[in-house]
Amino acid sequence: MKKLLIMMMTFLMYFSCASEKKKEEPPEETFNYSVERFADLGILRYQVTDWDSLSLNQKKLIYCLNNAALEGRDILFDQNNRYNLAIRRTLEAIFEHYEGDKTSTDYEELVVYLKRVWFSNGIHHHYGEEKFVPGFSSDFFAQAVKALPDSIVPTRDGQSVDAFLAEITPVIFDENLYAKKVNQDSSLDVIVASANNYYGGGVTQKEAEKFYNALKSSSDTTPVPYGLNSRLVKKNGKLAEEVYRVGGLYSSAIEQIVYWLDEASKYTENDQQKRVIDLLIEFYKTGDLRKYDEYSIEWVKDTESTVDFVNGFTESYGDALGIKASWEAIVNFKDMRSEALTKILGDNAQWFEDHSPADSRFKKKEVKGITFKTITAAMLGGDCYPATPIGINLPNSNWIRKDFGSKSVTITNITEAYDKVAAGSGFLDEFVCCAHEKELMEKYGSQTDNLHTDLHECLGHASGQLLPGVDQDALKVYGSTIEEARADLFGLYYMADPKMIELGLLDNPEAYKAEYYRYIMNGLLTQLSRIELGKQIEEAHMRNRALIAHWVFEQGKKDNVIELRKEEGKTYIVINNYNQLRTLIGDLLAEIQRIKSEGDFKEAKNLVEKYAVKVDPDLHKEILERYRKLNIAPYKGFVNPVYEVVKDRKGDVMDIKINYTEGYAEQMMRYSKIHSHLPTYND
Ligand code: ZN
Repeated sequence: MKKLLIMMMTFLMYFSCASEKKKEEPPEETFNYSVERFADLGILRYQVTDWDSLSLNQKKLIYCLNNAALEGRDILFDQNNRYNLAIRRTLEAIFEHYEGDKTSTDYEELVVYLKRVWFSNGIHHHYGEEKFVPGFSSDFFAQAVKALPDSIVPTRDGQSVDAFLAEITPVIFDENLYAKKVNQDSSLDVIVASANNYYGGGVTQKEAEKFYNALKSSSDTTPVPYGLNSRLVKKNGKLAEEVYRVGGLYSSAIEQIVYWLDEASKYTENDQQKRVIDLLIEFYKTGDLRKYDEYSIEWVKDTESTVDFVNGFTESYGDALGIKASWEAIVNFKDMRSEALTKILGDNAQWFEDHSPADSRFKKKEVKGITFKTITAAMLGGDCYPATPIGINLPNSNWIRKDFGSKSVTITNITEAYDKVAAGSGFLDEFVCCAHEKELMEKYGSQTDNLHTDLHECLGHASGQLLPGVDQDALKVYGSTIEEARADLFGLYYMADPKMIELGLLDNPEAYKAEYYRYIMNGLLTQLSRIELGKQIEEAHMRNRALIAHWVFEQGKKDNVIELRKEEGKTYIVINNYNQLRTLIGDLLAEIQRIKSEGDFKEAKNLVEKYAVKVDPDLHKEILERYRKLNIAPYKGFVNPVYEVVKDRKGDVMDIKINYTEGYAEQMMRYSKIHSHLPTYND
């Protein structure tokens, strides 16, 4: 299992349902979630909710961890390509010192290119991996570099600016050079064909595989992640690892990380948390992977602390062999409100189980709600910045997961920001035709969407039981679609129940209609925006939504429960009878639970193939076109807040305040000045 590295794009691919949605938040009308747009990217801002519920000590701890999270940024640039720091620093120098016409297309394109380099932590697209094409000419680039004072051009020692340009220009402009950051084409040597910097010149895929296979032993049940924190190079014809550690490769950045972790260690909430931080420091100092595993184990065990973090060489998506890990960081703290909400659901789990429309043979006699944890991000760094995952699921080591478990959480304030931006995009105006529903969605959409997620996670997945002797994998490839449908239906069914009002989870008996409408509209229409024209529905969550929406649509046809209305070439959903819709949802829940409990593969296959896979090509085209006009950026990322230390007259820290005014370029330039310690060339 890998961390949920889920970048939010139009074409979302969910690894886990736990990362689908978000928690509730009181409306903050003044907060501006959108920062700017360029190329295929949208820059957003997230809000650190409930910051002032933390103690001063916790704030200090986060402040130190935040700095540790920013000090590794250069490492990632260099890991992604050996020229990334040289290119970034050259572009930043031009950005800062250019005295020519700033309204020229060349200059404007250079700024867009720099913004893309910042976003991708290098010259390759953060998602597609391909090198992006500059919109300015190489002549313009050469002139702009030559106009800079020689001392700020990041040349190698003793290198002339002309020689520097000769070296760097093809890296930016030659489309065949370093074409792909990670190349998985199995007909090629994937190391040689990948532009990343995890392997030195001349190292081949065969050699690297042989090198790491030789380290592994089949009798070792607790293997360290060999090769995770190093570059594999050839020295005098022999392979050797350059280990990322204090005194090793990337030392000057790692020393800064260690400095801030040392500071953080002074403000820990408890001994366990201090143990975690101190072990991480030891790992950074020694580069010893056994220390890394020790640290990971203690990190998993720490479930009590409010403040938590990820800081280190973590995910190996950037290496075609999946051995080397990119540097990343997230600082976070527990989302208290979601804890309270899931407790209410957990306390009432048996009531929900007993009252579900499923056959009593398929119900649990004793059901326990699943605890569903969410966190608030305080700082994003390295490979989690600016594009960020919406959940964390770590550690990656299989034996540690088996023996000690893992932490799996959703990041509330990140998903919140995505939702808020989507809501302001004109989406409702485009796709919701009925004024009453639009009003309900504006008022309750966010709340009911979250409540549905909570019901899905805490109760839906926890409910029901298999009949004795039924294999839990009986539904095979249809298993995850059926399971997600089961949890979604459980949530939908209870959304409309008076119990929601009784428990204080909703305050208006009509509020659930916002979620019913959104869900059906998404399942029948709007989720098609995530699929390429000509393709079918593949992903399990999308299939489950299509299944539910199409099934209730078909079953309700004779009574016109749901209507597809066409106005001026646009298709809309009209729900004519909500009571009957709820009854149909209950019917399908009972049937899906039966399929699951009996392991009825044939019927699972029938339902999925009939309702969940196929796409109407005309409707698909229409939806894509309507989406395109909304101009929603396909990929999104975030700027971080700025943390300001407030001191009293004696110089003691009184508080740490958050400022949300920093712009994208401003932030990137600031990080490149104060959190940039690596040499330009690290080979
Ligand atoms: Zn789920």
